[in-house]
Amino acid sequence: MNEDCIFCKIVVGEVPSEFVYEDDACVAFNDISPQAPTHILIIPKKHFTSMDEAQEQHKETLGHLLLKAAEIAREKGFAEKGYRTVINTNRDGGQTVFHLHVHLLGGRQFIFPPG
Ligand code: AMP
Ligand code: ZN
Repeated sequence: MNEDCIFCKIVVGEVPSEFVYEDDACVAFNDISPQAPTHILIIPKKHFTSMDEAQEQHKETLGHLLLKAAEIAREKGFAEKGYRTVINTNRDGGQTVFHLHVHLLGGRQFIFPPG
């Protein structure tokens, strides 16, 4: 756990949040500032700063996060219509919380490219 990391605090329950999914490797919870009717963040339990840290040894964790995003999207009922997964990386990528997270956005139409 990184003591200065808000998402690590969410994982251990120091910052309150309702998990929509949890297993040994990850948790998923609603974004505090939703950008779509459903906006869920899926994060590894173990602190991991950004995609900029990704190495061969992380492929299982990274795959796991994406797989869970797909499962949650199906559970929520918008998978067939479509949805968006986003991972922002570092400053120019728009990352503001430096604990890796997959955004899962659904329930409306998205345009590409994003801003
Ligand atoms: P990013 O800009 O990709 O780093 O995304 C960070 C996301 O975390 C933003 O969409 C924020 O709204 C969200 N966020 C920040 N603090 C919290 C929190 N305490 N609970 C839930 N979501 C949060
Ligand atoms: Zn963290």
